[in-house]
Amino acid sequence: MSETEMLKAWDRRYFWHPFTQMQCYGDDDPWIIDRAEGHYLYNVDGERCLDAVASLWCNVHGHRHPRLDRALLEQLGKVAHSTSLGASNPPAIRLAKKLVDCSPASLQHCFFTEDGSEAVEVAIKMAAQYWVNIGQPEKHLFLTLDNAYHGDTVGAVSVGGFPLFHEVYGNLLFPTRRLPSPYVLQWEQCQGDGEAAAKLWLQTLEALLLAEKEKIAALILEGGVQGAAGILPFPPGILQGAQQLCNAHDVLLIVDEVATGFGRSGKLFSCEREGAEPDLLALGKGLSGGYLPIAATLASEKIYQAFLAPFGEAQQFYYGHTFTANPLACAVALENLDIFAEGSLLSELPEKIARLQKGLERFRGQVWAGDPRQFGLMAAIPLRNPATGAAYPYGERVEYMVCKRAREMGVYSRPLGDLLTIVPPLSVTAAEIDTILQTLFNAMAEGSKQ
Ligand SMILES: *Cc1c(COP(=O)(O)O)cnc(C)c1O
Repeated sequence: MSETEMLKAWDRRYFWHPFTQMQCYGDDDPWIIDRAEGHYLYNVDGERCLDAVASLWCNVHGHRHPRLDRALLEQLGKVAHSTSLGASNPPAIRLAKKLVDCSPASLQHCFFTEDGSEAVEVAIKMAAQYWVNIGQPEKHLFLTLDNAYHGDTVGAVSVGGFPLFHEVYGNLLFPTRRLPSPYVLQWEQCQGDGEAAAKLWLQTLEALLLAEKEKIAALILEGGVQGAAGILPFPPGILQGAQQLCNAHDVLLIVDEVATGFGRSGKLFSCEREGAEPDLLALGKGLSGGYLPIAATLASEKIYQAFLAPFGEAQQFYYGHTFTANPLACAVALENLDIFAEGSLLSELPEKIARLQKGLERFRGQVWAGDPRQFGLMAAIPLRNPATGAAYPYGERVEYMVCKRAREMGVYSRPLGDLLTIVPPLSVTAAEIDTILQTLFNAMAEGSKQ
């Protein structure tokens, strides 16, 4: 057996993959990624693919970026890991300051975690404990949205709105109050009129706040788009309007920018687009440029102050993990932010976003595609069965076959339900955007003929 064959056999035999039906996993040749360079992934068979999903929406400047590689190696020469429970490390200190400096002005303190789900868990726990600490423990309910996705841990699933998860784990989840998805309101109730949808959504929020504000701890929103639900953008005004209503009714606002943060929206943070200043902000994915697992929850001064007390009163935030504020991850994240600050990546984004938007037009009206959706440098195209005009049945995995075909044509993508997704590294070139669009177009057209 060659080494490659052995790896494939062991992969099927031992490695239980996330979000994967392992019974089907072995049917195809698994794509085992051996190395990467810039925007390209290489598998153990030596095949090369353009990374059209930014290694699950997190890669920012491409793979093997010389500055990020160097930052990691330099830190490795000092220490790989040390605890931040009662101790500290220079990259984490610098990163905390830098994140506070570059995020919305309301956010003044930084709590580190390892993944986006955990950054959300921390935001939920901070919000809940905030009200306990200031003597209003009855404020413990969370307001969430239909279709929301905030991660896979139990608390993050509780504030999510995915029926699939809620059915399986329903008994484990804490109760919430649910608001409609702004995108669904816009397109199913307001004939696409974003202004009307935002107004209607804000009225619904206000009614809920008026009815139950003495019980409500916080509202949690994704940063302007429901990403995992299928790139469902909010109409303008939701973030800012929610901010004003939450302030007026003494409810905290948590914004989850795990997906939208670090340039994905076209700005460093999506909150900037509407001048929203949340009480808590969850960050992840692009924080280390997509290199290492690190996430953060930024908190306002008001939240932070509520945790200060004489030691004996036990009001501190009882939370922390073994690898919290890992120095390697912090060093790379710090360099990531420096590249943002010094380079032209952010100023080049509007042009790339416009190019993606223009390129998506070619899918409109195709018998095998629904209307494409876009938010910043992320897009999704629904695959349709030309015979029925509807999505293919869940079990048929036609989207997966289309992605497999795209991979053979040199573009690595991943389906999201019935959608083909384009979420490239932000450093993607205009020519690469065109290649991704054309390849998915060809793969979808071919795939729908089978
Ligand atoms: C990906 C994502 C998460 C979860 O982050 P993980 O790092 O996968 O735990 C949370 N919220 C949003 C909006 C996301 O896109």
